[in-house]
Order: sequence, then structure tokens, then C-alpha cells
Amino acid sequence: MRKRAVPARSLVRSEPPCAWCLDEGTVRTTYGEKLCGSCRNIAVQQRTREREGDSFSVAVYREMETMARAFGERYRSDVESAGGLELEYALANVSRFICRKNLFHGLASYLDHDFNREQRRALIRLLYRMIRKSVSRGRHVKAAYSPNLNWTPPGLRRKMAANPRSE
Ligand SMILES: [Zn+2]
Repeated sequence: MRKRAVPARSLVRSEPPCAWCLDEGTVRTTYGEKLCGSCRNIAVQQRTREREGDSFSVAVYREMETMARAFGERYRSDVESAGGLELEYALANVSRFICRKNLFHGLASYLDHDFNREQRRALIRLLYRMIRKSVSRGRHVKAAYSPNLNWTPPGLRRKMAANPRSE
């Protein structure tokens, strides 16, 4: 008898994922929410900077929280629809990171045809584990320079103060 493939469900842990980014690894209750290590760090830093009265850092960590939650939303909707387009996006993301090129452009309809929804869902889940790590690594800098913060970097601020006309 042929061995049956392990159902994609087995990739899902019985414990709830991270409340913000939906990471399915280890979570710990932090300020009343189940958070992964990366999101937990954001939450802790936010509280610490609040106590210190560092309003800029608080804004940065708030922005990081928004980004982590948005990532979770994207993940949730991609895993839910699990179409060829969503799998193409995940593959493209990993491909760009590894070889700085998207080797999967325009493959959505093939991915739709060659894999069934459960297979695509399992692949998206696995790929997102890598994407999540790489995205969370660059989040601090991205948040600090986010247009939502309306913040000018100190170097540029000094330059503008020295020479008010150049921007
Ligand atoms: Zn998380």
C-alpha cells in the first residue's frame, strides 16, 4: 500500500499563532497577548521607551507593531485564498532575497494548475516562515523612516539647519 502524504493540516500547530504576525512558532503571553519573540520584543521596547519618555522611539515601535500586524493580515488572507497568485508572490519574495531576481514572474496560472489548493496552502505557509524572518529583521529601519512618522533623520536635519535652502 502506498503511504499517504501527510495532510497539510499537520503544519498547523494546535496552539494559537502570534497575535500580531501569526508566526506559528513558540509564543509567550506578553501584556495579555500571545506573541512570538520578534513581536514580543517590539511590545517590550514600546513600554520601556514609554516609561523613558522617548516619544520618537515609542512612535517607531508603534509603527513596527502596525507593520507586524499588517504582515499577519497579509499572511492570513494569502493562506486563506491560497491561489496561484499568492504562491507566486511567496516564491518571488524568497527568490528575490536569495538571488536578487524574481525567477517566478508570471507563473501564477501554472502554480494554479500544477498544485491543488491544499498543496499551495502548505507551500505558502512554509515560504512565509522565511519571509517573516527576513521582513522582521529590516523592520526597525523601515519603521524609523516610515512617512507615517514624518521624521527627518538627524543628519539631514543638521544639514537643513546649516543651509535652510537645501532640502
Ligand atoms: Zn509575531
